[in-house]
Amino acid sequence: MVTENVLWSAPTCLPTEMACSNLERAGRVLQLNPDVIAYLSAPRKIITVSVPVRRDRGGVSVFVGHRVQHCDILGPFKGGVRYHPSVTVQEVTNLAMLMTWKCALLGLPYGGAKGGVAVNPQELSVGELERLTRRYTSELIKDIGPQVDIPAPDVGTSAREMAWIMDTYSMQQGHAVPGVVTGKPLTIGGSLGREQATGRGVMMVVREELKTQGQHLEGATIAIQGLGNVGGTAALLLAQAGARIIAVSDSSGGYYRAEGLDIPQLLDYRREHRTLAGYTLAQPLSNEALLTLPCDVLIPAALENQIDGPLASRIQARVVVEGANGPVTMAGDAMLEARGIRVVPDILANAGGVLVSYLEWVQGLSFLFWDEARVNGELEKLLTRAYHQVRVLAEEQVVSLRLSAYMLGVGRVATAFQSRGLYP
Ligand code: NAD
Repeated sequence: MVTENVLWSAPTCLPTEMACSNLERAGRVLQLNPDVIAYLSAPRKIITVSVPVRRDRGGVSVFVGHRVQHCDILGPFKGGVRYHPSVTVQEVTNLAMLMTWKCALLGLPYGGAKGGVAVNPQELSVGELERLTRRYTSELIKDIGPQVDIPAPDVGTSAREMAWIMDTYSMQQGHAVPGVVTGKPLTIGGSLGREQATGRGVMMVVREELKTQGQHLEGATIAIQGLGNVGGTAALLLAQAGARIIAVSDSSGGYYRAEGLDIPQLLDYRREHRTLAGYTLAQPLSNEALLTLPCDVLIPAALENQIDGPLASRIQARVVVEGANGPVTMAGDAMLEARGIRVVPDILANAGGVLVSYLEWVQGLSFLFWDEARVNGELEKLLTRAYHQVRVLAEEQVVSLRLSAYMLGVGRVATAFQSRGLYP
């Protein structure tokens, strides 16, 4: 490849800078050719579409949607679709890149992608959301497909949206194509265990990390920020395994009980009220107080950029397990590393979701559907294998778990790139 190894001029927002910096760090340790790093820092395709939606009240609103396909060296692009007002092409680009390393780390035959529409789904009716999803899908019809790019749910989307994407795509093809999405309803080819997969994976990673430190889940104290799909499932499974969940939070605030919270009761409360606001059987506490509680494990499972440098200097957990994507900023990460607090990185800790998406895709392509025990068993095998590969490399190289995870993910993609070569 030729000369100018300037990294793709990344947008200035923190997450993208962070993703590029992790790629660079891993590349340096692996002694990758700078041309390869430059190649891997640029997404292959950025697609921005306008999504006009006929409103129930009359008139049309026009939303902006994106799909960023980072890298398909190892296989089709794979990644979620996010509906959130703060979606930007920069955020989607960063998350697409994260997906590339996550899939490679887990040994999945996928490249990374991500999609999103800047919209508040709570402000749209179900009919409007369906029209938005179908129009967004139509705009991307030539760029997705079971061998091309396979969307999945992310923040603000669920099995319902995946069914609409699958139907829209299938109508254009003239036959049912279940493999175009994962995370779809069971009735049209979804997988048992997919909905809980990310939280279940977080539980497994916490268990393995504690084991590494000579501790068991039983009696371990845990604080969890965000009681949504990831945090809620992780809280339930960790509590069932004997851990003491001393604090949880959602966007209404935090809830603390030193003896351990009643997680099934909290989840019932949230299901009924759609929020934890008004829950009186625990002591209220602020989001910041939750993040700085003394405990064995802290699981940020809500949003990006929650733990910055100053906050990281006050964290009292022994281990931080990243349930969310990018919850620790670059400065926060450096501070935690300097203070000797172990961080299990997002590309490993929350990889259970894409792992079971892969199992769903395999089941769909082979028309053979598994029972839940088999799905959970495969998740257990592949995720714990990845955890121990990351742990062993970190020990051998005396580096953080994050750098080790990136070295494995980036290294696999770079090796594949060298085998395939640069076209033309
Ligand atoms: P979700 O929408 O189901 O849950 C998010 C939770 O965070 C909600 O309980 C919300 O109230 C809470 N929250 C929002 N703002 C908060 C704040 N300021 N303080 C405390 N809590 C707050 O979303 P999810 O699917 O659980 O995803 C959470 C994170 O995990 C995201 O970063 C997502 O990208 C990542 N992730 C999700 C999956 C998956 O399969 N769902 C897979 C990989 C990564």
